[in-house]
Amino acid sequence: MSLLSPTRYVARVELIDLDALFASGKRAILLDRDNTLVPRDRTTAPDTVAAWLDHARELGFELIMVSNNMHRDEVACSAGELGMDYICGAMKPAPFAIRSGMRRLGAEPAESVLIGDQLYTDVWGGNLAGIDTILVRPQTTVDLWYTQIFRIFERRALRNLPCEE
Ligand SMILES: [Mg+2]
Repeated sequence: MSLLSPTRYVARVELIDLDALFASGKRAILLDRDNTLVPRDRTTAPDTVAAWLDHARELGFELIMVSNNMHRDEVACSAGELGMDYICGAMKPAPFAIRSGMRRLGAEPAESVLIGDQLYTDVWGGNLAGIDTILVRPQTTVDLWYTQIFRIFERRALRNLPCEE
């Protein structure tokens, strides 16, 4: 398997069946912030995302936000609203922040999954850290300028990968 292959590709986080994920042995979810939980053109997560996270906690999942976003106030605010700890300036695809997130949750790699909207940060980073990854489609088409460049390669890489709708 390539370092750029996600374990699964799902249209958006709310479509990920948490009960099935828990039944498969996962206990810790590491979450990207921008365009995974919080659309790039907004400052808060949609209610559907907040409800999905509430259900994750009810089931017993441990959650942490692992964001490349350098703005600590933005990341801390979202993480607080969504009821989880956070790491900002994570520098994914480097695996260090992802591993540190797992340590904070007391989770083993086999029981951890990273969910994010970018192949070249989230999926690559998760694979380098040795954990399962779920790629989701970005919530909006609004991206940072350098992300837009990666999106071109990403679209090419994802051309033949079926997405669970
Ligand atoms: Mg993102």
